[in-house]
Amino acid sequence: GQAAFRSDLTHLLELVGTGKESLIFMKKRIRHLGRQWLRAARRLEQKLEGRRRDQKHILIHIGFLTEESGDVFSPRVLKGGPLGEMVQWADILAALFLLGHSLRVTVSLKELQSNLGVPPGRGNCPLTIPLPFDLIYTDYHGLQQMKQHMGLSFKKYSCRIRVIDTFGTEPAYNHEEYATLRGYRTNWGYWNLQPTQFMTMFPHTPDNSFMGFVSEELNRTEKQFIKSNKVSNMAVVYGKEASIWKVGGKEKFLAILNKYMEIHGTVYYETQRPPEVPAFVKNHGLLPQHEFQQLLRKAKLFIGFGFPYEGPAPLEAIANGCVFLQARFNPPHSSLNHEFFRGKPTSREVSSQHPYAEAFIGKPHVWTVDYNNSEEFEAAIKAIMSTQVDPYLPYEYTCEGMLERIHAYVQHQDFCAAPEAGGPAGPGALALAPNATHLVWAPRGGGHGGWPPARSLQVWLSEGRHACSETCRRRGLVCEPTFFKLLNTKDAFLQLSIACDSTEAEMNHLYPAVAEGARECYLQKEPLLFSCAGFNSKYRRLCPCRDYREGQVALCRDCL
Ligand code: UDP
Repeated sequence: GQAAFRSDLTHLLELVGTGKESLIFMKKRIRHLGRQWLRAARRLEQKLEGRRRDQKHILIHIGFLTEESGDVFSPRVLKGGPLGEMVQWADILAALFLLGHSLRVTVSLKELQSNLGVPPGRGNCPLTIPLPFDLIYTDYHGLQQMKQHMGLSFKKYSCRIRVIDTFGTEPAYNHEEYATLRGYRTNWGYWNLQPTQFMTMFPHTPDNSFMGFVSEELNRTEKQFIKSNKVSNMAVVYGKEASIWKVGGKEKFLAILNKYMEIHGTVYYETQRPPEVPAFVKNHGLLPQHEFQQLLRKAKLFIGFGFPYEGPAPLEAIANGCVFLQARFNPPHSSLNHEFFRGKPTSREVSSQHPYAEAFIGKPHVWTVDYNNSEEFEAAIKAIMSTQVDPYLPYEYTCEGMLERIHAYVQHQDFCAAPEAGGPAGPGALALAPNATHLVWAPRGGGHGGWPPARSLQVWLSEGRHACSETCRRRGLVCEPTFFKLLNTKDAFLQLSIACDSTEAEMNHLYPAVAEGARECYLQKEPLLFSCAGFNSKYRRLCPCRDYREGQVALCRDCL
């Protein structure tokens, strides 16, 4: 049937269930952002002008909250434990519900089994049962549980699964045979899913789909009010756990900060001040989310000590008119050199505590500096105190932006469809662009083609030291892995006037590519290994880039 936008969140709050602190947190968040969500849904409804949208039956199985996987997070909700995942799940629930889909929410193995129609006690059920859902949103824990309890159905229906995966999974780590062969070890398994079935918290790598979350939005009056009530010497430190105050070398930069500003913290404590937090810090203890926002409204500066990585709080701070000051990581942190990222299925290099804030927002809202350089640090503090900054929230983190993006994914991403004859892009061919720097896609005849539409494709050759993500970024574009299949051809080399003495098809996540300094061309043999991430100075890679909507990097201009 047709999906109709919903105008009331009451039923969703019933669906979420109760009992766990984590569920209580999520419901509080949904209720608190309710009006903002409903307004955004109305705006998107107008924007889509009554376009037909299919209603999907969706199972949302939040694996990390199940007792069977340990549920280590729920007991820590009120004790400064991580909240980012719960923020994101609450927002995913709200978005899918408002878009008008039919939802089931499970947070235990028993509920999962009964919703899947698996007879309880049948461990590895050998039967294929018909799956009553069009889509399943889960996480790595839930994926493991489904594999264990769905028997043969798991493989058959895995194309309907979407995995919420905070830090991302790169193709080289996803493909079991390749990862094993090349030593891409992970603690999370090799699932051989389409890499875009993994959905991340920030647009880390275009190999995955960017899911995101939302932040509180302000209207013009609120923005004005906040601006005129900023306390220019008030700083809030990022972090709820006392352990973040243990970072080495902090005495030096804290002393500088303390010279200029009054330092506030929101560090959890039971009865007395945590010994890690210096006496000159005004510690409020862990605050309920909306009170934390109130604190940010007064503060001028939100300062990170290097941990936690890539959480929601800096976006909330910037949305409330703070400047976010963070340390540059040199060398960058990654699964190769940092315990936190070790075993995570990505080789991404994290250049600061919050690379999204650094790269997508930047000055005047975000300052990324070398904390070991006292002069640079001190100069930043002074500059920040004397500049006026407007509250800012990128469109992709507004409720409307998230609704728009999830709408597009639900309607267009189809991992179950058999590859059609003629290719999902429709008829067409690569052609040299008029200025001869890159290739474009020239569609032939009618037909609407695939999604994203191939007319947004530009093929660029990378430089030796650049991944495709970087190659596209430098041209104001974004790498689009869906298009790799269109350029994984001898014709692409030919059109770019690359003379190939040999052309071989092999399994390598850097292919298609041409060997630097030689005339050897390589095509990709395994479509699951098409990867925007990855580089090696031996190769120049063939990169599929596309344009994107302003403030919404996940969608091309014609993608809505
Ligand atoms: N937060 C909160 N109370 C506080 C400090 C933060 O409720 O005293 C919330 C904040 O609004 C944010 C969430 O904690 O949405 C997660 O923030 P963070 O960036 O610290 O990420 P995490 O490490 O918890 O995933």
